[in-house]
Parts: sequence; structure tokens; C-alpha cells
Amino acid sequence: MIAPARSFPGNPEAGTLPDHISPTAAKSYLGCSLRYWFERVLRLPKPTSVSLHLGKSVHAALQAFHLARWRGGDDSPEATALAFDDAFQRLEREEGPVSFRKPADREKARLDGLRVVAAYLDSPEVLQGHPRAVEVHLSERVPGLPVPLTGVIDLVLGDYVTVDFKSAAAKPDPAQAAFDHELQLVSYQILIETATGETPPSLDLIHLVKTKVPQVGRVSTKPADRARKQRVVSLLERVVDGIAAGRFHPQPGMHCSWCQYRRECMSWPGVSKAVEGRAA
Ligand code: SF4
Repeated sequence: MIAPARSFPGNPEAGTLPDHISPTAAKSYLGCSLRYWFERVLRLPKPTSVSLHLGKSVHAALQAFHLARWRGGDDSPEATALAFDDAFQRLEREEGPVSFRKPADREKARLDGLRVVAAYLDSPEVLQGHPRAVEVHLSERVPGLPVPLTGVIDLVLGDYVTVDFKSAAAKPDPAQAAFDHELQLVSYQILIETATGETPPSLDLIHLVKTKVPQVGRVSTKPADRARKQRVVSLLERVVDGIAAGRFHPQPGMHCSWCQYRRECMSWPGVSKAVEGRAA
């Protein structure tokens, strides 16, 4: 019989509910619960990857642009590029170090980011007019979940369409992208419906593709029906359950090739001392 997965000894989270659950945290837990534990419970410091740093800096620049459109501020390409450069430096200082292999890589990443931001501003997908909300933090009690559901939605348009921005290395397949982000998209729909009583007519992803000539593409997904929402709530509930029970174990797969916790992963003991003693 295979022994059940155990938490590391002394896991402070075992037996306690998390304060809340977000689709980002749930996706991380479902991807690999042990990596989740290293990253979000133990918060083991690791260098920031170049792609994450770039993605966050682009995100900050787009946020500044959207806020300017919302508030009637400076939404020029120059101001948006400046917001990118500010974020690129600030995030490196506050959340770095970033794993640039050589100094020239840093400048290349910076220029790539500026090109991606400019491509969005020039694209048909750029925000037109005034949004309903930018970078909106929501936390709502949802039937079926023992803790609040939380999320930060990049953009909510006037008709309640939710928009989330994704940086990507290659142009994604639309159906695959919608499937990959179902948990997040439907969670946002549930949050908007709970907070406002309105159903978004569409759940949108805008991909910013970091190819030599950057590309910008939108994937629109229909709002979820009751069955899709129930599936997502059940998935979130399983995650909360797993965290509360201290179920953190290796889930090997392709994602291990870019996991920064492989060394720590190898020290996972598998079973508690008591179980090992009984087995001896
Ligand atoms: S190496 Fe793989 S199994 Fe181990 S923590 Fe990382 S993602 Fe999980």
C-alpha cells in the first residue's frame, strides 16, 4: 500500500485553513503542491527569472497606461515607456536579484519589454475609452468555499468584460489558452457576479507575445454556466482542503525542468518518522 503524502515535519500550515484562496495560488498548488509549499508557505528566497521580471515590468507599464486612461492622466507612449523603465529598475531592487547571465542580457530584456509595451499601444486590442476598473482587488464569500475567494483583475471594461494580460514566448493556441486559464477566468466571473450582480459578457485574455516582432492577441471566452462554475468552485475547495490538511508532495512532470526548488525537493522525506518506524 502506498503511504499517504505527508507534510514536512513541523509544517505550520497543517490543520489550519488558509485565510483565503486565489486562482493564482490554486493553480500553483495544483501544478505541484510541494513547490507551492516552498514558494508560498516557506517563502524560500530564489532569484527572479528573467521572464518573470519582464512580465511583471510589462504588467506595471500597462497598469500605468490603463490608470491614466481611467483617471484622465498622461497615457502617452513616452509616459508608458517611462513607467516600464521605473518598474524594471524598482522590481530588480525590491524583488531581485534577477537571474541575468550577463550584463548584456539585462539590456536585451529591457528593450524586449519596451517593444512589447509599444506593440500593445499600437495594437487593435489597446484599451479604448474609460474602463470600469483597473487592477481591481476583490474578496468575496462564495457558497461551497470555506474561505473567501480573492483575485486581482487587470481590467474590467464598462460592460463588465474582464481582461487579463499574459506575457508569452510564443503565440498560444486560443482553445488551449482558454483551457489553461479556465480556473482564473471563471474565478473572476464569480467574483464580479458576487460583487456586482452582473455577469461579464466575455472573459478575455490578451497575450503579449515576446517574439522578435512582438504580437498582441485576444482570446475571448464565453461566460461560464452553472456547471463550469461548480467545477471551478469544487477545484478551489479541493485545494483549500489539501492546504488545510498539509498535503504537500512532489508532483514530477515537465514543469520540474524550470522549477527552482529541485534541490529542496530531493529532501522531501515521503513518510513521517512514525510510519517509517512501524515499517522497519
Ligand atoms: S522539482 Fe518538480 S516535483 Fe519537485 S518541487 Fe519542483 S515542480 Fe515539484
